Amino acid sequence: GPRPTPGNMPGRSSVGVPGAPARGGGGGGRGRPGGGSGGPGGGPGGGPGGRPGGFAGRGGRGGRGGTQGAFGRPGGRPVRGRKSKRAKRQEFEQQGAPSLGGVQVPRGDGTTEVQIRAGASLADFADKIDANPAALVTVLFHLGEMATATQSLDEDTFQALGAELGYLIKIVSPEDEDRELLEGFDIDLDAELAGESDEDLMPRPPVVTVMGHVDHGKTKLLDAIRRTDVVAGEAGGITQHIGAYQVRTEHEEQDRALTFIDTPGHEAFTAMRARGADVTDIAILVVAADDGVMPQTVEALNHAQSAGVPIVVAVNKVDKEGANPAKIRQQLTEYNLVAEEYGGDTMFVDVSALQRMGIDELLEAVLLTADAALDLRANPDKDARGVAIEANLDKGRGTVATVLVQSGTLHVGDAIVAGTAHGRVRAMFDEHGEPVQEAGPARPVQVLGLTSVPRAGDTFLVAGDDRTARQIADKRAAAERAATLAKRRKRVSLEDFTEALQQGRVETLNLVLKGDVSGAVEALEDSLLKIEVGDEVALRIIHRGVGAITQNDVNLATVDNAIIIGFNVRPAERVNELADREGVDIRYYSVIYQAIDDVEQALKGMLKPEYEEAQLGTAEVRQVFRSSKVGNIAGSIVRSGIMRRNAKARVLRDGVVVGDNLTVESLRREKDDVTEVREGFECGVSLGSFNDITEGDVIETFEMREKPRK
Ligand code: GDP
Repeated sequence: GPRPTPGNMPGRSSVGVPGAPARGGGGGGRGRPGGGSGGPGGGPGGGPGGRPGGFAGRGGRGGRGGTQGAFGRPGGRPVRGRKSKRAKRQEFEQQGAPSLGGVQVPRGDGTTEVQIRAGASLADFADKIDANPAALVTVLFHLGEMATATQSLDEDTFQALGAELGYLIKIVSPEDEDRELLEGFDIDLDAELAGESDEDLMPRPPVVTVMGHVDHGKTKLLDAIRRTDVVAGEAGGITQHIGAYQVRTEHEEQDRALTFIDTPGHEAFTAMRARGADVTDIAILVVAADDGVMPQTVEALNHAQSAGVPIVVAVNKVDKEGANPAKIRQQLTEYNLVAEEYGGDTMFVDVSALQRMGIDELLEAVLLTADAALDLRANPDKDARGVAIEANLDKGRGTVATVLVQSGTLHVGDAIVAGTAHGRVRAMFDEHGEPVQEAGPARPVQVLGLTSVPRAGDTFLVAGDDRTARQIADKRAAAERAATLAKRRKRVSLEDFTEALQQGRVETLNLVLKGDVSGAVEALEDSLLKIEVGDEVALRIIHRGVGAITQNDVNLATVDNAIIIGFNVRPAERVNELADREGVDIRYYSVIYQAIDDVEQALKGMLKPEYEEAQLGTAEVRQVFRSSKVGNIAGSIVRSGIMRRNAKARVLRDGVVVGDNLTVESLRREKDDVTEVREGFECGVSLGSFNDITEGDVIETFEMREKPRK
């Protein structure tokens, strides 16, 4: 049957790390999606993509680590951050398990340098060394670390991985990248960074992100926090959604400000980190007290922990019947989040976002954690640098971008570059819609005046003048194009799947299915899994769902080199752009069998282009010349279009086809052989062995054109 690669399993939330032993070593797979049932591979009849058994169900069966990988790694779960990576590895090797569990990864020779961005993920690294991201997940797992392909990792982890695989890892910071970018421009980054003496640095507000499982109350909590703002309360100002806001609160008799990133969900957090933009100082992890720790809770805390961001836990919905805040504290101890009252160092605060209870205490906890763990200072007296949080194109106002100033002060009139966008700051507004003239560190503001729309996570900086800003933006755009092209070459589209297959580059066609209704998605999946495809290739549906094609779908497809099939659905806003950039192939269908056909053709290596007929011209036969050598020649006059040598032809008599599938074998004007004859001219046409031509017949010529696929 098809071979699902170990470590290349469907399912992707970080808790879905393939074959990971259940946390706590127990057999239950607690708090994670169950083995067979939830996994996309569990299709009817264990079809392609079916995986052997459900790993989650048999966690903690340690001691079998000798054979295929170490899925039953002794010792239960890998502990994060407690032992050094080296110690973990040694421990692992002493257990005598094969070092890489048999996965294939291109290796370096120990001197091969690989540059990775700070905050990069395994998928990014895989891209650089042309490896399968899933294989790297497995390798890392063998080094005693659990991570998903898209999770951002710290430098230590990359170094350990590099050492294992023979690469010299060089982490490049956004500053390094900027330095390269700014080479030749009159902006001295080093001087700017070096010039930060202690007395230049002023305290700044913490920047906070709210993360957690869907429906646990992130949006409601952000809303409740916004309403606590004493200043807004006094001014009666209504806060508008601009992607980030600042609130003020009383803390130890001081008026303190906090900045919240108001794009709930860890996706925004990940996206920004993936772009190398570290915006968050502190994360509030929201967990609903009536629900408990869920997959995205774990994913979120993994993100925060690997980014070294301190966490404050908001135990939400305590107003609800069945709420069990103690249980949440208990559950999270398993993830190294131990409540202060249990002797740990994480602050847990019970809140009700709905009833706006516990919000002041939560803000207090955030400030206490920030003051204890972080040195939040920045120099306001220089040109601003920061990050774009959110941006869109407004019909009346042009590009509207919310940026977070990280250092320096941004002024109206500054020429800035944000990602590949540039422009002069025409006006700035705060979260109350009030115009502001300047914005200092940790201040989010809406900026008008950019020539194009930057992406979330794009860094911005102030350039001396418009021209410099434009040049830097252009240089960045060129670099991005080059990177996109390089990526594109590696991704699979349905057409080059066959070629990739032949070259042995792929053996599994990965698909993401999205449809308008769940019935359609299921039907499509069923039929796809029934396609008969021999032993060499397998079809795997790595993700399916109802609704528009989202960024998440594209991210999944990027990591697993999958093709997205959209059935009666379209991509959400900006998703096309992302897919384009990542080189992900999205196909749209409204008829199930067409989708099945295409996939089947691709699997069988026969996805030929479709052709359609395009008429070239018609000619009327005036006189027939008989020739023993070349057969009959039709003396004709071209009535429309052109006659062309070698074109396809048919003969019509009184509107009825009397000869079809013919070819214009020779074409003459007077005595000369010609390739084309135009409307209104006479010519002699020979249709090869077809001799049944009489006066008054019409010769129609056409060619077959490739039909663009829909
Ligand atoms: P998100 O998906 O994490 O952003 O969750 P939302 O903020 O949209 O909240 C999900 C649902 O839970 C909504 O119906 C909210 O009204 C409800 N909710 C949020 N916070 C509370 C709370 O403290 N108590 C109760 N009873 N319901 C809440």
